[in-house]
Amino acid sequence: MKTSALICSLVLLAACRQGAVMENPAGENTMTAKIQKSDAEWKAELSPEAYNVLREAGTERPGSGAYLDHKADGTYVCGGCGEPLFAAGEKYESGCGWPSFYQTSHSSNITERVDDSLGRVRTEVVCSNCGGHLGHVFNDGPAPTGLRYCINSVSLGFKEE
Ligand SMILES: [Zn+2]
Repeated sequence: MKTSALICSLVLLAACRQGAVMENPAGENTMTAKIQKSDAEWKAELSPEAYNVLREAGTERPGSGAYLDHKADGTYVCGGCGEPLFAAGEKYESGCGWPSFYQTSHSSNITERVDDSLGRVRTEVVCSNCGGHLGHVFNDGPAPTGLRYCINSVSLGFKEE
């Protein structure tokens, strides 16, 4: 099928650029989160907004997030499990409407995987520990990485220094 061949080459292209996309030969994303909870358990723990984003890969409204203009010193952690994800110094003003980071000093806590929903190929970032959806990473960030981790505020918590 023509479409699948196109998607396949786009996926390969994305994999080349990102370097660390996890994908198995069958084309399905592979990841085993350390924390395994049922949907009912997550629902009981998270706010409806956080459940929608973290567990159902939803997206908060642009410009609406609690951490969009947040500037305190500290560490952004996963809103699902509390693992550290980004240092406050890695945040920058991207103007995209979501908290943005140009790198992560906790890369082992973040897993990248191919997301081909909405008819285009993007790189989804999820928490390695609980599998929670955080957002996406794009190649239009500032130097020195050129990366923009575009993260939903409701996927995050914050530990002040
Ligand atoms: Zn997590």
